[in-house]
Order: sequence, then C-alpha cells, then structure tokens
Amino acid sequence: MRDPAELLALLALPPTLLPAAQAAARVFPLRVPRSYIARMERGNPADPLLRQVLPLDLELHPDAEASQDPVGDLDAMVRPGLLHKYQGRALLVTTGACGVHCRYCFRRHFPYSAANPAADAWESALSYLRDDDTIHEVILSGGDPLTLHDRRLAQLAEQLAAIPHIKRLRLHTRQVVVLPQRVDEALLAWLAACPLQTVMVIHANHPRELDADVRYALAQLRAAGVSLLNQSVLLHGVNDALDTLAELSEALFEAGVLPYYLHQLDRVQGAGHFNVPDDQARTLLQGLRARLSGYLVPRLVREQPGAVSKTPIL
Ligand SMILES: *Cc1c(COP(=O)(O)O)cnc(C)c1O
Ligand code: SF4
Repeated sequence: MRDPAELLALLALPPTLLPAAQAAARVFPLRVPRSYIARMERGNPADPLLRQVLPLDLELHPDAEASQDPVGDLDAMVRPGLLHKYQGRALLVTTGACGVHCRYCFRRHFPYSAANPAADAWESALSYLRDDDTIHEVILSGGDPLTLHDRRLAQLAEQLAAIPHIKRLRLHTRQVVVLPQRVDEALLAWLAACPLQTVMVIHANHPRELDADVRYALAQLRAAGVSLLNQSVLLHGVNDALDTLAELSEALFEAGVLPYYLHQLDRVQGAGHFNVPDDQARTLLQGLRARLSGYLVPRLVREQPGAVSKTPIL
C-alpha cells in the first residue's frame, strides 16, 4: 500500500493525521505490504507496527545532529555499491528497493542510482572481491536484496561461490518479516543448492511482527540450511520497553532465530523522534541480561563511521 489515505481508512484512524502523512510521504513515500498491515491494531495510532511505517510531520523537523550519510557509507564504498568497512566481510548494496519503507531507515538518503553495482552486471564489484583474498563473507544488503528476482540472486550466488576465498553468503533482509510470502520455492531452491554457507539476518523490531506466516517462512529457511539471526533497531514508541524486548527475543528463538544486534538509531535526517538515549538503552540491556539466557540478549551497538566493527554500547 502506498496511499496514506487508504492506510488510515483501513485502520479506522482519524483523517486529521492525513495532511502530515501526505507531506512526509512526499519526502519518503509510504510503502507497506498488506500482510504487515493485517498485524496492526485497528484504531490505534500508537500501534508499534504502524509507527514504523506511517509518515509523520515529525520527520520534517530538521535535526541538528543528523546527516544524510550518518554511518559513513560513501567513504567505505570501494566500487559502486560495494562497501568494505570491516575486515573479512564486504557488503553489497544490491538494490534500492524494499518491500516496506521504514520511517527510521538510515539509508533513506543513500544515492542508490549512482551506486548501482548492477550497472556493469556486478563486474567491478566481483573483480574487487576476487582480488582481495581477505574477504570470506559477502553480505547482500540494500534496500532489500529479496526484492531482486531469484534468477538474479542465484546467478550472483554462483559467481560468488566461484571465488575460492569466499565461504559465506549473508543476506540482510526485512522481506521475511514484512512479506513472508517472498519465501517461496524458487528462493528456497537456490539457497538450499548454494555451495556457500548461508546466513540470513532478518529485521524484526517487535514480537507481534512474528505471526504464523513469518514463523512458517522461517521454518522453511531453516530446513533449507540457512542460519538465522535477527537485528532490531531500538525505536522510541516501538520497542523501548523491557517486556517488549524480552518477548521479542523469546519469540525469535521459538522461531529458530538468534537475536544478534540491537542497533542504536543512526542519526539520519527525518528520524530523530525514534531516538532512545544511550542511558535508557543501557538500562534496557541490563534488564534483559537479568531476565534472559545469555544467548537471547542481543548486542547493543552503534555504527560509527571509521570504526573497525560495530561499536558496543557498554
Ligand atoms: C554492518 C556491516 C557489516 C556487518 O558487520 P557484522 O558485525 O559482521 O554484522 C559489514 N559491512 C558493512 C559495510 C556494514 O555496515
Ligand atoms: S527494509 Fe531496511 S533498507 Fe528498507 S526501508 Fe526498512 S530499514 Fe531501510
């Protein structure tokens, strides 16, 4: 769904929200699958799933601490669309398209069309990966790599598997959560056949996102031999509560997914209202540690430009 008026009507929300939603959607359009909307509570403008996708006028307030490239992606771009920040792994921005537009997205302003690795059929990115034998893992990111056709993904996986020093293929995707129907026979077939070890990092922020269809999709991925991890973004008004985070970790593990990262928000222009102060974030983490098995506690991190890894917030 792309029309704010239709979204508000479907959820029985007050039409007074419409002018702001339309104004903010002109900067970063609304986009959300209907199966994700179906998990929202009707009549609740504070619904934690709705908050992640509904354009608000708060997005239009300039944020003095924010930038257009908060994590230094452009400095780390070694070939169009290929980011090499950390030792041993490199990240390929495969596409600008996503199945959902998350209002807090840190790549809201990424210059996707100027940094498109597909422009030369991936050749310059692939040649960089071939030439650097310290790279053992390639991360397909975006946008969302699962908006690409399986034929394209299978071909890319094959080209990567042909590079001797590459051992693992990792996909960073929110499609499994927002559009679980994307996990279909074609996707499962190439993943199961991939000679590389496959890892998928999904992106769930709230336990209510993991409905029966998502759990089914995750079970299928596991059966295809994919290791499943989750990363969340800590978001004010969505998941900045101990019970919510604890339930999320429990629900993820029940679905065969290990909590991996809990990201502090990247200060991108237009998302300041989602920010949670570091002190509160630390307190939430301590609460989780006191309540959950160690492997259910995600690593609280921030991405700092120029750092050798994600930076833990201790
Ligand atoms: C986050 C990120 C990675 C992955 O880091 P891990 O700590 O291995 O999950 C790799 N490359 C880039 C450019 C990144 O932003
Ligand atoms: S799915 Fe990821 S890349 Fe796409 S809008 Fe959401 S946070 Fe951004």
